[in-house]
Amino acid sequence: MKAKSSKLITALALCALMVLVCACDEWFDKTSKPTAEPDKLQVHFIDVGQGDAILIDLGTTEVLIDAGEKSPGVTDYIDDYVDGHLEAVVATHPHADHIGGLIEVLDEFDVDNVWVNGDEATSKTYTDFMAEANDEGAQVHEARRGDTIVAGTLTFHVLNPIDPLFDNTNDNSIVLSLSYGSIDFLFTGDAEIEAEESMISAGVLSDIDILKVGHHCSRTASSAAFLNIIKPEVAVYTAAIGNTYGHPHVESLAALQSIGATIYGTDESGTIVISTDGTSYTIQTEK
Ligand SMILES: [Zn+2]
Ligand SMILES: [Zn+2]
Repeated sequence: MKAKSSKLITALALCALMVLVCACDEWFDKTSKPTAEPDKLQVHFIDVGQGDAILIDLGTTEVLIDAGEKSPGVTDYIDDYVDGHLEAVVATHPHADHIGGLIEVLDEFDVDNVWVNGDEATSKTYTDFMAEANDEGAQVHEARRGDTIVAGTLTFHVLNPIDPLFDNTNDNSIVLSLSYGSIDFLFTGDAEIEAEESMISAGVLSDIDILKVGHHCSRTASSAAFLNIIKPEVAVYTAAIGNTYGHPHVESLAALQSIGATIYGTDESGTIVISTDGTSYTIQTEK
């Protein structure tokens, strides 16, 4: 009896310890978001279901890459971080799961610069987005490989698209690299294999630390040739639980695993926040 109860106590203690260890990686207070720290770069992969929304925050500088579909709650989320105005908003490509939510963002926040890929669409979402961008009085720029997007002390390098544009809108996604100290990020939008091949041929890719996985971890992106050059330590994809596309595709997860990347998805982890001082980084997940 005694041996059994002491075993039970040991088992319970172990469970408690495991819960504590697991919780270290999560937000301690589920009702609040991670707080901004002035000396740290924070990259928020906001859970918007099936879509991308990424806030990059350093002190009083904020850049937003995409904002998911219309009304995904991005404006509420970023409100805690945006100091006055967004230095730049990047619309990677005109698909609704990337630019839909930007209409409300442009409506509610002051935005200095809007970057688009110049791949025009006929959808109402796209025309509403462009109308809002022009109404905002923001400077609208077309991004091309070789351009830089400067926001405060941050410099993003544009690796894609190029002229002429591809037929596949996803392959015209604005792809950005960002280095903060020795920590290197790559944001790919929905770039697929054709865009990856173009960046490989141009020699614009290098070893990185953190990858926003292309096209929601679809098998149409993340080729072995691409991953073998960039070799991310951490790979973050965005997808909704039970989405109809079957994202993330097992082939892409396997490819990321085979190069040793630790994988996070907004479907399983909710919003994911990576904080870095330029030397090391920490990852917090909502769930
Ligand atoms: Zn997408
Ligand atoms: Zn797309």
